[in-house]
Amino acid sequence: MAELILIVEDEKDLVKTLEYNLQRGGYQTRSALTGQKGLESASQKPVPDLILLDLMLPDISGIEVCRRLKQSEITKGVPVLMLTAKGEEIDRVVGFEVGADDYVVKPFSVRELMLRIKAILRRVHPEDSQDKQLSFGNLNVDPVAHRAWVEERELRLTALEFRLLTTLMSRKGRVQSRDTLLSDVWGIDAEQTTRTVDTHVKRLREKLGSAGKYIETLRGVGYRFTVHSDGDQS
Ligand code: CA
Repeated sequence: MAELILIVEDEKDLVKTLEYNLQRGGYQTRSALTGQKGLESASQKPVPDLILLDLMLPDISGIEVCRRLKQSEITKGVPVLMLTAKGEEIDRVVGFEVGADDYVVKPFSVRELMLRIKAILRRVHPEDSQDKQLSFGNLNVDPVAHRAWVEERELRLTALEFRLLTTLMSRKGRVQSRDTLLSDVWGIDAEQTTRTVDTHVKRLREKLGSAGKYIETLRGVGYRFTVHSDGDQS
């Protein structure tokens, strides 16, 4: 069954472009031009597999729509990819407060958007990738044996660095806020500040050497494992 993507966006031309490209990419689509319609459509069966949500909507803001989606029993598990033009709101959008799973900044390329959608859906349906070796570019990780290599060189990672690496890798293409990383890697009760995350990412990057560039910094937001391996930059 093709996965269903709900588009909540008030620019009709953009909706058409998205529908066309998503359908060409093998997805089913549904669309809503206002926040209210989007909320209604999101809880109708079949519940969508992913929601593309514009930040600037005429009635209810995308932030509020996202918050309500994440509070509803029906839709709280549906990943939300935010379409935004406003850089300063991004930290709120992907933070705990609003809970979007990722965002793209307008104007975005269709190719970039499709990569993000694929990365999110892969995480939601992990049966294809579970328990296998994680590998990306010249980086190889064996999650069961707790070992990692860059090309032939085995890395000497602490347990915490290993957990940080596999957490980022398994959420490839998705922004991870410092707060999310603190609670998922260090544990909710950890008496650490977000500064700790920066320090450990820096050390992990150094150990990764040439593979360190796969971990991207999103200033003021957090970190993201890239979806572009070498030779896939176009
Ligand atoms: Ca808009």
